[in-house]
Amino acid sequence: MCPAPTPPGSIYLDHAAATPLLPDVAAAMAEVHAGGFANPSSPHAAGRTAKRLLEEARERILAVCGGDLGPGARLVFTSGATEANRLAVLGTATATQGRIISSARNHSSLVAAGRDLAARGWDAVTVPLTGAGTLALDAEAGNSTTGAELLCVTLACGQSGAWEDVGRVARWVAGGRGRRVHVDATQAFWSESPTPFGLPEGIAATIAFAPHKLGGPRGIGGLFVRQDVDLVPLLPGTQEAGLRGGTEAVALAVGFARAVELAAAERVTVAHRLAALRGRLEARLIAAALAAGVAARPVAAGIPRAPHIATVAFPGIDRQAFVMAADLEGVSCATGSACASGASEPAPALVAQGLPDADVAGAVRFSLGRASTVEDVDIAAARLGRVLARMARTSVP
Ligand code: PLP
Repeated sequence: MCPAPTPPGSIYLDHAAATPLLPDVAAAMAEVHAGGFANPSSPHAAGRTAKRLLEEARERILAVCGGDLGPGARLVFTSGATEANRLAVLGTATATQGRIISSARNHSSLVAAGRDLAARGWDAVTVPLTGAGTLALDAEAGNSTTGAELLCVTLACGQSGAWEDVGRVARWVAGGRGRRVHVDATQAFWSESPTPFGLPEGIAATIAFAPHKLGGPRGIGGLFVRQDVDLVPLLPGTQEAGLRGGTEAVALAVGFARAVELAAAERVTVAHRLAALRGRLEARLIAAALAAGVAARPVAAGIPRAPHIATVAFPGIDRQAFVMAADLEGVSCATGSACASGASEPAPALVAQGLPDADVAGAVRFSLGRASTVEDVDIAAARLGRVLARMARTSVP
């Protein structure tokens, strides 16, 4: 028997790390587990059924998410956004030399892929961040080469929530030949943009995404690939049109499709609701911190940002001790992206955007999801206020 996901009464504010699986998605996957379990590569009837379900799922996901890449976009299923990021960087870099441009906004998987491309002979450039936490691309724009250039952009920063300035990215693309952009859109679904990710037409060559951020299954993600972009596999095999070996996870693909369809139907409504909840949470946290004698400064306030992420700096508070104390008080939150939250290093994006050391050291990420309520926010803020008061009392002045 699986334990309850969180202790009773506990409030989950870590939806940027993972969201609960939606019952509708679970039901769609259960049907496939029962009837579409066969190997999609098998030529018999059961295999053909699995293949049909897989290809239908691909088309359904492309119909919802492929719009930013224009006609003819493809989708390669991966194990998640980590692998999609890696495939985008190492699978499209067919030239032996070029420039890979990354930043501290990027998820560690994207940073690592860039590092590995540099080890193959590409020049690696790290673009600084503006004070708002977006790419300071203007200084970089003039450094054009005649060769291949790949800019890795994170649309909504998983650390601060700050939305990238896509107009600036579009100008960068237009400023040189051979410039390509990979977009990590993993945290970027909830928005008011007219297309799923709101990118100016044609700027992204590839887009990485994973459905476990919006009620879909974990263990699957995808790389959307523009029609004109060539890709070589990282895991050779016959599956995925030769772009990724290994038996395909049909039930996960169907869960992915269901999750994005459900999310697309309420994208803007959810984005508005989450933005309002986030504002309420930040206001309550500031008030609770004030009462505890601690400052609280929302990071990325006043600039476009993902509506589900509220990263708040409590200068003078140790973020790791805070997250542990919050957990004991019944609130799940994080010090940064989940894969780095066990690390003692501060969030690289917050450092790179020039926040004061004390803000970085005390920065905590709270992230909301569809199921979050006003009541959750109010109770969580009250509990976190108690945590801050205790920590303020015990901290050395
Ligand atoms: N990119 C961003 C911006 C993320 O926030 C995450 C996960 O939190 C990832 C990539 C990695 O996603 P996955 O866990 O699906 O590999």
